[in-house]
Amino acid sequence: MPLSIHQFAIGSDNLGVLIHDEATGRTASIDAGEEAPILAALKETGWILTDLFITHHHGDHIAALQPLKERFGARVVAPFADAHRIPGIDLAVREGDIVDLGETGFSILETPGHTIGHIAYYSEAAKVVFAGDTLFSLGCGRLFEGTPQQMWASLAKLARLPDDTLLYCGHEYTLSNARFAVRFDAGNEALKQRLSDVEALRSKGEFTIPSTIGLEKATNPFLRAAEPALAQAVGLTGHPAVEVFAALREAKNKG
Ligand code: ZN
Ligand code: FE
Repeated sequence: MPLSIHQFAIGSDNLGVLIHDEATGRTASIDAGEEAPILAALKETGWILTDLFITHHHGDHIAALQPLKERFGARVVAPFADAHRIPGIDLAVREGDIVDLGETGFSILETPGHTIGHIAYYSEAAKVVFAGDTLFSLGCGRLFEGTPQQMWASLAKLARLPDDTLLYCGHEYTLSNARFAVRFDAGNEALKQRLSDVEALRSKGEFTIPSTIGLEKATNPFLRAAEPALAQAVGLTGHPAVEVFAALREAKNKG
């Protein structure tokens, strides 16, 4: 049951994704930040939009929801917990629900932290997760609504997916994330390699996404908060991973 994936830029740093179930032709946009680039991506692929899979309520992820729903009659799938603040929801989903895109099924993972209602869409068969603004390559979303405990649990949930799962996320932040990461995890050879790979990709104007869960577990400081080296880097040797995670997130907030 092949799934085709087309990624494109939206604005300065948002990443748009169209996913297309080859068996049935059903096509979903992961989030709906801006109409024009999504229409251009549909034109380029020749796919017809049937679904909108929304990760969270922020404007850069839902601003084009209503116009796209009206234009295509697309089904809107969105978090149950955000039903009061996302317009036009057809299917409100929770942890463990399965959403079908034709013959490809997606499990809903609740990933609170960046926002309380945030969800990710995971297909075991297609080996891909769409993590929105929860897990970025070498970074994670800011804690606008949730606690460090909630975000750490959400990241741990994503880290438990198979290593070869492709990771798509809502933003191309990887280069600045990499420069932050090496300050706190300087001895990590996999991270140094990723930084040089990311520099090369960005200098050619290419995306650093998708990453994989395995690569993020080896390089992303926010997934590595249980490692002694990260605890030491924030002066919290011997402290619980969630405290190390919170300190890293604070440091990142300060730039
Ligand atoms: Zn967001
Ligand atoms: Fe965002």
